[in-house]
Amino acid sequence: MLEVAGLKSCYGRIEVLHGVDLSIARGETVAIVGANGAGKTTLLKCLSGVQPVSAGHIRFDGNDITRAQPFRRVALGLAQSPEGRQIFTDLSVEDNLRLGAFRAGRETVAGNMRTAYELFPVLRQKRAQLAGGLSGGQQQMLALARALMADPACLLLDEPSMGLAPALVDQIFEVIASLKERGITILLVEQNAYAALSVSTRAYVLENGAIAMSGEASDLARDDRVRAAYLGV
Ligand code: ATP
Repeated sequence: MLEVAGLKSCYGRIEVLHGVDLSIARGETVAIVGANGAGKTTLLKCLSGVQPVSAGHIRFDGNDITRAQPFRRVALGLAQSPEGRQIFTDLSVEDNLRLGAFRAGRETVAGNMRTAYELFPVLRQKRAQLAGGLSGGQQQMLALARALMADPACLLLDEPSMGLAPALVDQIFEVIASLKERGITILLVEQNAYAALSVSTRAYVLENGAIAMSGEASDLARDDRVRAAYLGV
């Protein structure tokens, strides 16, 4: 469904992705783990179209989207829930959700909103409140729910558990597991490598802008190098 080949990307003259290859089949949940600064966020930004690609190709569902505008990628079914939330703090919770569904008809919006509220009941309770008044964890849920409003076939998640209290981290990973059950293809970037590998089918290890290892998530979770570098064992 998603194929990345020889992907390079730069900030100014500094290349930070040096030829990344990866592929995700429909229905898979794939994790990208790696240290701070490895290039995980840059990779997701290239996939969502907010960071230019200097070489290589991105194909999604048979379309070459290497240079497609972000809204076109969303229209094709590729949506991102960005790191750092980036919600609209002076709009209500419900208006934030509506903005995620800009391409959908009214019935789809209503259906998707019901699903979002089922997954995150707290957002239903707070739907009329300003998003800026939500706790950090609730804002993270709102960002994820908003990405779901676009009815994505493939969801790009950047650090969904970042900065959350342990109970909320568990809740976010439960939601990711239920999205997986719903058949949504997921590419998950996470510092929390243990949780990411637990919920994923396959994983890639990104080191210094290149894929250093890849395989079944359960195999990588048992690998000595991965355990020492990313699992703290
Ligand atoms: P983290 O987990 O800390 O977010 P990451 O793996 O997501 O790390 P990136 O944020 O993609 O890594 O950063 C990759 C490299 O690009 C790092 O060396 C970083 O300093 C650099 N970088 C990131 N954003 C910019 C920017 N806007 N301008 C210049 N360099 C940047």
